[in-house]
Amino acid sequence: MEFVTALADLQGECSCPICLDYLKDPVTINCGHNFCFDCLDLSWKDLNDAFPCPVCRFWFPERKFRRNPQLCNLTEIAKLLQIRRSKRKRQEENALCEKYNQFLTLFCVKNLQILCTQCSFSAGHQRHYICPIKKAATYHRKILKSSIEPLKTNVE
Ligand SMILES: [Zn+2]
Ligand SMILES: [Zn+2]
Ligand SMILES: [Zn+2]
Ligand SMILES: [Zn+2]
Repeated sequence: MEFVTALADLQGECSCPICLDYLKDPVTINCGHNFCFDCLDLSWKDLNDAFPCPVCRFWFPERKFRRNPQLCNLTEIAKLLQIRRSKRKRQEENALCEKYNQFLTLFCVKNLQILCTQCSFSAGHQRHYICPIKKAATYHRKILKSSIEPLKTNVE
C-alpha cells in the first residue's frame, strides 16, 4: 500500500498543474513549482513586468525558469508505472475556460469564481486571493459546488 502511495506521489510530482497532463519539457521556477515549458510560456505570454507562479502566485520580477532534466526522467518513469486515472478521466473532471480553452484549476476567493491560469492573471483579478481549486475545496466546498454546478450544465 505504501508503494502505491509513493507512486501516486511521484505521479503527482510529474504532472503539470496547468494542462493536468504529464510534464512535457519540464521547467522549474524559483518557488519550486514545475510546469511544461509550453504551459508556462503561454501563461506568461502577455506579461512583461512581473511573472506570477500559476500555483502559489508568488510574483517574480524576471521571466526566469530552469530546465529540469531530472524531472523529465522521473516523468518517463511515472508514465511507465501508470496507475493513475487516465488523462481523459482527469480532464473530464475539470471544466474548460471558454475564453482561453485552458482548464479551470484556480479559484478566486474574492469573486468566488473558478478560473484558468490565463484569466487569473488578468487585470480583473489582480491582488485577489487566488488558490488552486483543490486547496479551495477544503475550505469552500459549498461555494465551489454552487459555482461549478451551473458551469457543468452549461457545458453539457
Ligand atoms: Zn502543462
Ligand atoms: Zn509557485
Ligand atoms: Zn480562463
Ligand atoms: Zn478575482
